[in-house]
Amino acid sequence: MVGATIACMLAEKGVTVAVIDAGDPMKNWAKEEYDLRVSALTLASINLFKSLGVWESIEALGEEAVQKMFVWDHFGSGELDIDSADAGEIQMGSVVENRITVLALWEKLLQLKSCDVFISVQLEGFEADDDGVTIKLSDGVTIVASLLVGADGSNSKIRRLSGIDDYGWEYKQKALVATVRPEKSHQNTAWQRFLPEGPLALLPLRDGLISIVWTSFTETTEANLKLSDSNFCEALAEASEQQLGDFELVGARRAFPLKLQFSPEYTQQRMVLIGDAIHTIHPLAGQGANLGLKDAVTLANVISQAYDKGRDIASQQVLRRYERQRKGDNLLIMAIMDGFKRLYGADDALVPIARNIGMSLVNNSMLIKNQICKYAMGL
Ligand SMILES: Cc1cc2nc3c(=O)[nH]c(=O)nc-3n(C[C@H](O)[C@H](O)[C@H](O)COP(=O)(O)OP(=O)(O)OC[C@H]3O[C@@H](n4cnc5c(N)ncnc54)[C@H](O)[C@@H]3O)c2cc1C
Repeated sequence: MVGATIACMLAEKGVTVAVIDAGDPMKNWAKEEYDLRVSALTLASINLFKSLGVWESIEALGEEAVQKMFVWDHFGSGELDIDSADAGEIQMGSVVENRITVLALWEKLLQLKSCDVFISVQLEGFEADDDGVTIKLSDGVTIVASLLVGADGSNSKIRRLSGIDDYGWEYKQKALVATVRPEKSHQNTAWQRFLPEGPLALLPLRDGLISIVWTSFTETTEANLKLSDSNFCEALAEASEQQLGDFELVGARRAFPLKLQFSPEYTQQRMVLIGDAIHTIHPLAGQGANLGLKDAVTLANVISQAYDKGRDIASQQVLRRYERQRKGDNLLIMAIMDGFKRLYGADDALVPIARNIGMSLVNNSMLIKNQICKYAMGL
């Protein structure tokens, strides 16, 4: 998602771009098949896709607006409800299946004259010097470029080959994802309940469905994966306090281990990292892809400025400008997500009480709620 986005932005400017992907974006699927991987995209990310002319394709393939947010705690009566209308917007964002976003971007890339795509091929290695970077692919092809952008996800090979360290920790939690049909309407609301082992998010999906991200300790998630479909749906209805009634499972269930990971260094000679390659965060507020898209916008802007002035787009001056502009925001969001995870996972008896009081106070302050809403919109 992040790599294809920056490629689109730069190729639109006329910069010659080659996109290398180990995978092959899915092009066809039955309408009633749903991707288990979805992202809640902020209004800022939607506006980016609109400016690239890909949002129309995403809309045609299917997305669902998020207009409200309802958050509640398993302990006490604290709750938080936020409506985008109160902040003067029709929606906070949209929930889109990842393969839809990738396909829309991919179709755009194929139309751009200054972009070449290399699919189902791995980057094997690269060497950089003052004149350029030579990239070796698994099919024997060699590409020579001015700059290598590593948007290769949290296990980034480019980061490893560069010797850039990554720091962080495993959460000893897994996120179970599934698509379900709720008995009651989702009301275009992102529902989130904080449970003792982690948050349960119920995101509105196209066709009246719900995409769930249910975070629990690894053993609990493994047990939930093994439940029969009907027992799983019962457990889900109980965990969500029947807010949306009963559920019917649509398709498979899958689990992802969760970790926090970040790199203090974003760039080296003729190489720069973006997206999950430099920051992987807890999915509890659905910010990972949105953060990566912000990296893409910032990097595309600094590269474009250098390109327009006829300067070297891969100079350390240019790349460090991107690093400086993004590092603060990335670290702040990571710290907030980690803080939330700890606040809602704390064992201390007083913490849930404080949490409940805090949530009620926030719920009574329109000013703070509007700030949260703007944050959820990525504005
Ligand atoms: C359960 C869960 C729920 C989430 N929900 C949300 C959400 O609601 N909102 C949100 O914003 N974020 C969400 N996220 C986070 C989001 O999924 C990631 O932040 C996002 O996918 C990162 O995008 P990326 O393009 O940086 O990396 P990736 O999506 O990991 O893409 C990396 C790409 O690099 C390619 N690649 C890797 N190695 C090589 C190689 N050697 N050669 C060639 N190609 C290579 C891969 O094929 C892939 O296409 C969630 C994450 C999880 C786990």
